[in-house]
Parts: sequence; structure tokens; C-alpha cells
Amino acid sequence: MKLPFAESYKIKSVETIKKSTVEERKNWIKEAKYNLFNLKSHQVFVDLLTDSGTGAMSDKQWSAIMEGDESYAGASSYFHLKDAIKDITGFEYFLPTHQGRAAENVLFSALIKEGDIIPGNAQFDTTKGHIEYRKATAVDCTIDEANHPSLNHPFKGNVDLEKLETVLKKYPKEKIPLIIVTITCNSAGGQPVSMENMKDVKKLADKYDIPVFYDAARFAENAYFIKIREKGYQNKSIRSIIKEMFSFADGMTMSSKKDAIVNMGGFIGFRHREDFEKATEFGILFEGFITYGGMSGRDMNALAQGLYEGTEFDYLETRIGQVAYLGQKLKDAGIPVQYPFGGHAIFVDAKSFLPYVPIEQYVAQTLAVELYIEGGVRGVEIGTLLADRDPVTRKNRYPEVEWLRLAIPRRVYTNNHMNFTAAALINVFERRNEITTGFKIVKEAPLLRHFTVELEKI
Ligand SMILES: *Cc1c(COP(=O)(O)O)cnc(C)c1O
Repeated sequence: MKLPFAESYKIKSVETIKKSTVEERKNWIKEAKYNLFNLKSHQVFVDLLTDSGTGAMSDKQWSAIMEGDESYAGASSYFHLKDAIKDITGFEYFLPTHQGRAAENVLFSALIKEGDIIPGNAQFDTTKGHIEYRKATAVDCTIDEANHPSLNHPFKGNVDLEKLETVLKKYPKEKIPLIIVTITCNSAGGQPVSMENMKDVKKLADKYDIPVFYDAARFAENAYFIKIREKGYQNKSIRSIIKEMFSFADGMTMSSKKDAIVNMGGFIGFRHREDFEKATEFGILFEGFITYGGMSGRDMNALAQGLYEGTEFDYLETRIGQVAYLGQKLKDAGIPVQYPFGGHAIFVDAKSFLPYVPIEQYVAQTLAVELYIEGGVRGVEIGTLLADRDPVTRKNRYPEVEWLRLAIPRRVYTNNHMNFTAAALINVFERRNEITTGFKIVKEAPLLRHFTVELEKI
């Protein structure tokens, strides 16, 4: 018999979670203005809002916390982290930041100015937010396959080289300070980018003399997919794949809350001293001195340890295997999901799921609310609310696909929780034809509105 899947860790400490009734949840979500970000954690049973900062740290990470060095300058924790980053990514220079968007803020302050064009593969919302805040424009050059949920493509996060070259040709080099490749591509469904594509992007960027930075929050999951799916990588180690991936970049921003399995933290990695020096000025201004930049010594220690644990094959197999376990249950029930399954989350195609809810009534948000009411499972809308309004016309931007994202925290839930989640969503699926109306906005912020938006039932 082929041995079945089993987690590559065991549980040492647990946290109680609370069940609730449908009636309670109907009241709570109404009080929350139908925004799942407004729910209190005790009102949620299985929390799949995000995999960001929600992972379970290991015994070794907790021990590393005890050994944190809180010296303002020159702390040993800083040097532990510097060594780990160099060892795993190959980047010589780095700046710590308090999370991923802080890394974007510091790096973009050094590189991006008004009127600039930043091509890449479906930049993440905070990335786009930081680009647009500087009155620059993010251009999405993801391959078209990313927008076809049922189409099987091993690397749906890939950059379309023709689209990219069109942008590089159209604007002068001075207008394009960098290309940002997001690995894995969160907005496209946690979809990986192939090694070949990274190599080709770098080649093209070199031709036009433009630096390439990776938004590398899930670089380890990306490496796992390369090992499993890309020809020639089956016998290479995850760590060597990671080194090769980063060899095609001039630097990286990192939300350590993802693949480095810490609850808070981030950094920027640089290949070139000049880039590091340019960014340092803003790092000190916004985040803190070079050797801590927004992080405690203990947290840098836990992060250094997390970088090693997050890049182990057995861990990645467990993690991505659990995501696929949930995905397969949904797929088997006929629920339309992004396929192949992504690394950190299952993305449900809400427009196909709820065909009678008008697109102007926030279809993916409607599905997220229904799932919460059904089982106390909290997912998140990756759709029109997240896409914000066009900065010029102020009209809603309707993305091609409206996703409900079910993000799986690292090392937190068991497969029973996945079974529970699948059952709740299947129940909603069975009554999908009765769901015909969604929501309207009563209050919203000009940028990143989905965090604070207030809605009313139609
Ligand atoms: C989470 C994330 C960010 C932002 O990081 P924070 O730590 O949440 O600030 C940037 N890019 C990607 C791809 C992410 O997933």
C-alpha cells in the first residue's frame, strides 16, 4: 500500500476555537457591516482570512526568541538574520522592515517617482497601493492563462514576455525603475512562476537595462512547485532551486509573515551595494536603524530560524499537500476553483459559483459572507472590492475573475478543519441558485478600501 499523507510535525501547544450558531453569525456579520475584516476572532471557527502572520511557530523558533539580542545597534540577532538571508537567497545586503509593505515603502521611496511605470505579474494589493500612492502605474503582464480557472497550466503566475516587452519598448528606460515579479503570484491564485520564465524575464530586463525585484513572500512555495512540476528540477534540492531563482533578480522584498513562518516581520534583499545604500536612508527614516529596522532582536532570531524551516522539502510537501487536500474536496464536489491548486490558498471562482448575483453587487464578497454564515469559516474577497476604483475615472475596476480566497495558515489547522470547510462550502453550493442578490457600498476609503468598506444587503 502506498503510504498516505501525514503531517511532518506534531502538536506541542494548542489554542481553543469556538463554535457558534447560524443565528449568532447572521447578527455578527450584520454588525460587522458585512465586512469580514470587522469580525472578532472569537466569532470565527476556521479562520482562512489570510496565511499572513497566522502560522504556528516551532519549538526551535520559540527558543530562538529567548536568545534574542535587543541591542539597538549591532545585535547578534541581526547578524543571525543576515547570515540566514545570505545563505538562503544569496543576497549580500539586506534591510529589516516590520512587514512586507514596509519593505515596499522603503524600496519604492528609493526607486519610484511620479509618472513611472512598473510592469510585473499581477502585483499584490499593497504593492499596487504603494505604486499608485506615488502616482506611478502598475502594469499587469501575467499570462492570459491565469484568468482561466479551469485551464490546466503548471505556471499560471508566469510573466507574458510579449506583454512585458511591449511595455519596455513603449516607455523610456528612465520611466521604468524596476520590474516586479511576484513569486508565487498571490493575485492569480498563489500560482507559481517557472524558473525558465524568471530566466527569460531577466534576459529581457537586461536587454533594456532595467532591474528585476521579486516580491518574494512565497518564494519557498514557488520553489516547491518548480521541483515538482518543471522539467530538470526533480532531483534538485529546494535550497538550490531557491538560490537559482534569486540569481535572476537584483533584489527582493519579503513579507516574512508568509514563507518564513513568523507572525510579524519583513526585509529587503539587495544584490548591489548602491541599491542598498539608496534604500538605507528611507529604511532609517521609516523603520529604524539598519540593524533592526522595525523588528525586535528576538523576532529577527525567530525569522532566521523560520527561513530554514520554511525551505525544507518535508514541510513544504505537508503544507502544499494540505492546501491541495481542501482543493480536491471542493473540485470533486463540482465547485469551480483555480486549477492547478495554488500554494497557500484555494481560490474559488465566485462568478461561476453564484451566476445570479449581478457583478455590480460584489459576487465574491457575497460568497464570502454566505460561507461565514454557513459554517463560521472566514475567507476573503479577491475581487472588485479589493481591486479599488480606477485612480483617474473613480469607476469600479472589475477584475476578470472574482475570487473567494481560502488561505490556509501554516502548521495551524488539521485536515478535519479542511473537511469542515469543504462541507460548509458544499452546503452553500447546494443552495447557490437561491442566492441572487449581493451588496452595495455605504462607506469606503479611497485606497485599499476592502479592509474598511461598509456594506448593506440589497
Ligand atoms: C502579504 C504580501 C505583501 C505585503 O506584506 P505584509 O507583510 O502584509 O505587509 C506583499 N506582497 C505579497 C505577494 C504578499 O502576499
